[in-house]
Amino acid sequence: PYAAIGVEVNVDYVTAVAVDLAGERLLSWRRSFPGPDGSTGQAVAAVAAIVRRVVSRMAKQERQVLGLTVGVPGLVGTDGTVLIAPNLGWRDADLAGDLAKALRDPGFAVQVENDANLAALAEHRFGSQAGTANLVYLTGEIGVGAGIILDGRIRRGGRGYGGEIGHIQLDPLGAECRCGRTGCLEAVAGIGAVLRHAPLSPAEVEIELDEVARLARAGDARTLGLLAEVGRQLGKGVAVVANLLNPEVVILGGYYVPLAPWLLPAVEDEARGRTIAPEGGGCRVVASTLGYDAAALGGAARVLDSVDSGRLPRVS
Ligand code: BGC
Ligand code: ZN
Repeated sequence: PYAAIGVEVNVDYVTAVAVDLAGERLLSWRRSFPGPDGSTGQAVAAVAAIVRRVVSRMAKQERQVLGLTVGVPGLVGTDGTVLIAPNLGWRDADLAGDLAKALRDPGFAVQVENDANLAALAEHRFGSQAGTANLVYLTGEIGVGAGIILDGRIRRGGRGYGGEIGHIQLDPLGAECRCGRTGCLEAVAGIGAVLRHAPLSPAEVEIELDEVARLARAGDARTLGLLAEVGRQLGKGVAVVANLLNPEVVILGGYYVPLAPWLLPAVEDEARGRTIAPEGGGCRVVASTLGYDAAALGGAARVLDSVDSGRLPRVS
């Protein structure tokens, strides 16, 4: 039997997933990650270590690994290099090459792809909206990115740099963004903005978010106001998507999911008000049901697609 591996490196965690040819998860793993160090060294070491472990687990099950796709929070060119990963401080990184070297000729192809694109792929294949021809996935990470599926296909644009909704300016006077601009959507409506303004003591992102959700459930006025404001800002972004692409559904993923009960009403309200077509052009906004390993799962799905399209050894 065979296996395909997907890994996601994000700003504060690494996830890994292995699936069989039917796309069933064989394993799923997640760890927090020390965060930006400006170069890919740490990420390459972390990913290589987890991939070696997954490969040996698969070998024990007598599964041959067909390939690996790594999702990253940045702009990945059609040539496979990472042009900019703003929240990790990476520029012009050949992550796939460095990884293949670190894995010492692993015997399978290593591909790199934008995190939002992979999560959108996972939603399209396995999520609650599976099969929806026109869907957009918005990553709720430290950064915000869009994975765009139109007519059933991922759309990356000419050089692969499309979908960068996180860097659309929403507020000229807004907070500084890690891309060097101000008031970008991710700076005013990303999870960083929620955590910066919430009444919290510092902890890991997931723990802080649980605390935000707890405060919201308890009716804390400041937290409810904050989530409504972030929801309205995010709704402006959704309106851009709805006006421009008219998707059937926009899926909020990642760290937006635990906050969705409070974000969604504001997002929907704002998005409808700002979309010229009635009812937001029929665009629904829902929370992802795939969990934190959506992008890694999409990475594994991408490997399966490559097999199907004959770019990797064909299987019988
Ligand atoms: C990056 C995107 C990425 C998003 C989510 C943004 O800062 O520019 O490429 O998809 O964060 O991680
Ligand atoms: Zn920006």
